[in-house]
Amino acid sequence: MFTPSARTLQRSLALAAALIGAGTVHAAGAADAATPEATPTEDFGACKQRLEQRAVAEGVRPQTAQAVMANAEYLQRVIDLDRRQPEFTTTFADYLNRRVNDDRVTEGRELLREHADLLERITRETGVPGPYLVAFWGLETNFGKYFGKMSVPSALTTLACDPRRSEFFSRQLMAALEIIDEGDIPADQMEGSWAGAMGHVQFMPTVFLAHAVDADGDGKRDLWHSLPDALMSAGHFLQSMGWDGDYRWGREVRLPEGFDYSLADGRRLPLSEWRKKGITDAFGNALADEPVKAKLLVPAGHRGPAFLVYHNFRVIMGWNQSEYYAVAVGYLADRIAGAGKLQQPPPEDVPSLSRSRVIQLQTALNDAGFDAGEPDGILGPATRAAIRQYQQAKGLVPDGYPGQQLLASLRVIDQP
Ligand code: CA
Repeated sequence: MFTPSARTLQRSLALAAALIGAGTVHAAGAADAATPEATPTEDFGACKQRLEQRAVAEGVRPQTAQAVMANAEYLQRVIDLDRRQPEFTTTFADYLNRRVNDDRVTEGRELLREHADLLERITRETGVPGPYLVAFWGLETNFGKYFGKMSVPSALTTLACDPRRSEFFSRQLMAALEIIDEGDIPADQMEGSWAGAMGHVQFMPTVFLAHAVDADGDGKRDLWHSLPDALMSAGHFLQSMGWDGDYRWGREVRLPEGFDYSLADGRRLPLSEWRKKGITDAFGNALADEPVKAKLLVPAGHRGPAFLVYHNFRVIMGWNQSEYYAVAVGYLADRIAGAGKLQQPPPEDVPSLSRSRVIQLQTALNDAGFDAGEPDGILGPATRAAIRQYQQAKGLVPDGYPGQQLLASLRVIDQP
């Protein structure tokens, strides 16, 4: 048996490891070379045994590790979901309209009023304003309506025993076992998404372990049944990533006629510099003449909305590394706080691209001498940079966006 002090030491070592990997809730961390990982030949029983031993070595009580691992089952559906690849790219309009709609805004505003006292308390402790907390809650679980029904210990054991991202999910499983060992939730009630995200705000276990708090004073960190625990934990996590209470996430802006779109997605410049380039707020009013740095985004190309985003945008991306997600959080928070719709809604007449069409596009860019990297069917930063360079060379608006004009210019067409 571990003495309390030995357990505490193991805990802090495990916590340090968890913190290193806790940059994002959803993104995978780097593999740790010091621990063995699942191999294609290891069977599930042997893998479970190895994980149980590791948990005990990391300070989980043997009876907890044994009991949870004995009940952990292999879930083929989890592997199927992990292997799934979207057939089509999601357009910004599709993404945003599905997540920030009038029903969600109305419900968010009601919940902001209903939980005003709790939210004010969280803002006092963490600096994160209520509308953002409600926005995360809305985007993660539609305000607590859908937590996921997967057994988290079984899902994480399945993924830890699969070679694809074995170490990341092994670390998540270790954290889940520690949470169970601490008594925050019984193993059979630890439910979540197929990837192990849990409760009202879908925390991964390492983030839970590092940032979850007991805000209602019952001695447990319960992110499933206690809204104070869940939202206070969200506030603490955002605070730990450097939430800036002085500025918002960003804002919609209006770009002047003839604006140089090659400045989008690029460097962070002081607001005063953007102001000199003729950018105004979405209503045409002058931007504040301040030194705060901002980055320009045009997620739907030059026909869609433009945003200047501040430091908190990067904090939101620490929660989920997707620019679409971060814009959706900020926009939903603004709407919940009382703001109207975007002045320039994203165009809806843009077709989403199939993977094969993106591969065609990448191949065409490479063939034309614009390096889009190895064609993989994913519209990442390298592809966008190559698109922008091509657009500049051809006298098109260099917004880095694969619109119809670009596709026609590169003769990229859907193959039958
Ligand atoms: Ca509690």
